[in-house]
Amino acid sequence: MRSKLPHIGTTIFTIMSKMAQEEGAINLSQGFPGFGADPELLDMVAKYTKAGYNQYAPMSGIPSLREKMAEKTLRCYGAKVNPETEVSIVSGATEAIFSSITAMIHPGDEAIILEPAYDSYEPAILLSGGIPIRVPLNSSDFSVDWERVKNSITFKTKLIVINSPHNPSGYVWTQDDLDQLAELVRERNIYVVSDEVYEHITFDGRPHLSLVGHEELRQKSFVCGSFGKTFHVTGWKLGYCIAPEKLTEEFRKIHQYVTFSSVTFLQYTLAEYLEKPERYESIPGFYQEKRDLFLTGLKDTGLEFQATQGSFFQTASYGHLSKIGDRELAEKMTKELKVACIPVSSFYHNQKDDKIIRFCFAKENSDLEEALVRLKNLGELFKK
Ligand code: PMP
Ligand code: GLN
Repeated sequence: MRSKLPHIGTTIFTIMSKMAQEEGAINLSQGFPGFGADPELLDMVAKYTKAGYNQYAPMSGIPSLREKMAEKTLRCYGAKVNPETEVSIVSGATEAIFSSITAMIHPGDEAIILEPAYDSYEPAILLSGGIPIRVPLNSSDFSVDWERVKNSITFKTKLIVINSPHNPSGYVWTQDDLDQLAELVRERNIYVVSDEVYEHITFDGRPHLSLVGHEELRQKSFVCGSFGKTFHVTGWKLGYCIAPEKLTEEFRKIHQYVTFSSVTFLQYTLAEYLEKPERYESIPGFYQEKRDLFLTGLKDTGLEFQATQGSFFQTASYGHLSKIGDRELAEKMTKELKVACIPVSSFYHNQKDDKIIRFCFAKENSDLEEALVRLKNLGELFKK
């Protein structure tokens, strides 16, 4: 049997979470909340499943949830989208990203991804016979090196995959970033897949600038989001894609043969839950408290970092303390300090090791506090 993805193994998130569990470590590796969701949300799940919403949902999502998403898009990004023809509900942002990439990429097409990059983009490009063109982000702050992106464009470039707020760095795109992107795709046959799963997790008053809110970019973009990330229910695997009608038509052709439709009672639940905007508008404040708590303690560990701008991740450098590889450090930290993290080299196709690790702070404050006590002994790991 010839593998279609010979170089792809088990994801680092699965590896580290498993190790954390086996070692009884506090798991700050894989990105998922370590606390429960709003009880009101959970009551709604029970209500809708008992009410009998247990058969197939319409292929593109139930109308009321698509309408709620159109209202939310107008409220958050000032953009009017047609719920019938431009909004699709799918099984997680992972499916939204996969179906968008699959809809666009033909064999031989080039797709630009910005490294460090989330792990699901490249396999989707490869499975469609596309060629991933990896462009490094600026190493100082993970901002985009627009000159490099521009120089990577060829007549074969079909797609650019972007991600803001960025996993793993937390970098949040500015208006200038959006305008630079618009200039690059203008008058070229290039489309954009915009991974915005952390749209509701930005800090210090920084707004999330969705591509759907950019008049020019939205015409060429698939905006992908995740209800799981926003409402602390990553296991629900429910997400969405907003794209112009012509792109949505192609997107749905793929979606209907990947999953066809997504969990019905959860869609009804979310349609009702979205009636109160404060439920997503309170998320940045909620996470900012956790970020600040985590950063206060991180200062005593010897690690170097800049406060993350968005997402629930914080990266930190240790190159000034040790030359140990980041994967080895993550393993040692899990086994000896009992705190698990993610080595950032896993976000590079060639495992480029800049001595950076990523922590997820979407955890109970007590777990964060205990992890920080343990991390104060980080120096011990470097002595051995
Ligand atoms: N993109 C990024 C950047 C992510 O961090 C995640 C979450 N793991 C996803 C996509 C996938 O989201 P979902 O769980 O909704 O499939
Ligand atoms: N996006 C999550 C992270 O970056 C992981 C989700 C997954 O395990 N696929 O940690």
